[in-house]
Amino acid sequence: MKIYILGAGAIGSLFGGLLAESGEDVLLIGRKEHIDAVNKRGLIIKGIINETIKVRGTTSVPKEKPDLIILATKAYSTETALKEASGIVKDTWVLSIQNGIGNEEKIIRFGGKAIGGITTNGAILEEPGVINWKGKGITVVGLYPSGEDPFVEKVARTFRKAGLETHVSRNIVGWIWAKTIVNSAINPIGTLLEVKNGAIEDNEYLMSIAMEVVKEGCRIALQNGIEFEVPPMELLFQTLKETRDNYNSMLQDIRKGKMTEIDYINGKIVEYGKAVNLEAPMNSLLWALIKAKEEMSKNVREQGG
Ligand code: NAP
Repeated sequence: MKIYILGAGAIGSLFGGLLAESGEDVLLIGRKEHIDAVNKRGLIIKGIINETIKVRGTTSVPKEKPDLIILATKAYSTETALKEASGIVKDTWVLSIQNGIGNEEKIIRFGGKAIGGITTNGAILEEPGVINWKGKGITVVGLYPSGEDPFVEKVARTFRKAGLETHVSRNIVGWIWAKTIVNSAINPIGTLLEVKNGAIEDNEYLMSIAMEVVKEGCRIALQNGIEFEVPPMELLFQTLKETRDNYNSMLQDIRKGKMTEIDYINGKIVEYGKAVNLEAPMNSLLWALIKAKEEMSKNVREQGG
């Protein structure tokens, strides 16, 4: 299968590298430093495996269409990335493996055939050309918003062949909402308190806040007609257990002085609440606190702090 990874950072390069290694025709589309390193030395994947993989990279979107585009930018870069790729997105299958709500709607707006996805694999870009695959997880893909298609089954088979445990869901929108609701609780709380996920589970005050945030998200999802495959509360407990030793990605972004995905996690839940006349005070508060923290960490970095 001819596959482009649009936004080859941590998770995109992991998927791209494993797919290339298993014989797929992969092109990483990413930023110069990382792509230069990959083209020169190969892509190094450390952690779960230890391999140097030969895979092609470029910094600009080619004119020729692939069979599949895997969208792997942060949610706040989706619009720009799709605009840059607009010449090849129309009528092409595009799978989002990003976090947050709204990525698939944008794929559809640009004329792409959207496949929704979630992944619990964990990866970081350690240095240009080097990915650390820290946690092996599962990936769920599905025709967006729901239903089935033989191509989605083929994508799942291709991923499995590459060593990525992958399931197909006929209700991927339910999975995307469940993961977003869990992230809406863990990420801002862990970021504000600057703690690992395990500290939330161990603290009764933080745990009760997290559970209220999940309940609020569930009420809004259900009013918007979302049906869950796995109850988000169950997923919250499971995620906290499995990721006890991790600092969540929002905190990692703040520490780098980068933007977070808060607008596409808690921000989207607030927005969908408004659409059905439901208030979301917990999500609104967490959203505003993270926006404040984003600004403050950016100022500290700009002042060289
Ligand atoms: P990341 O390391 O920042 O990777 C995204 C890469 O795409 C960055 O190098 C970014 O460059 C680049 N990019 C942005 N716009 C582009 C464009 N128009 N053309 C080419 N490259 C572009 O982020 P990540 O950790 O892989 O996460 C990606 C998404 O997957 C997020 O939604 C995240 O929440 C989700 N996710 C990540 C993991 C994980 O373990 N990492 C797990 C599950 C889900 P700039 O930095 O210059 O923008």
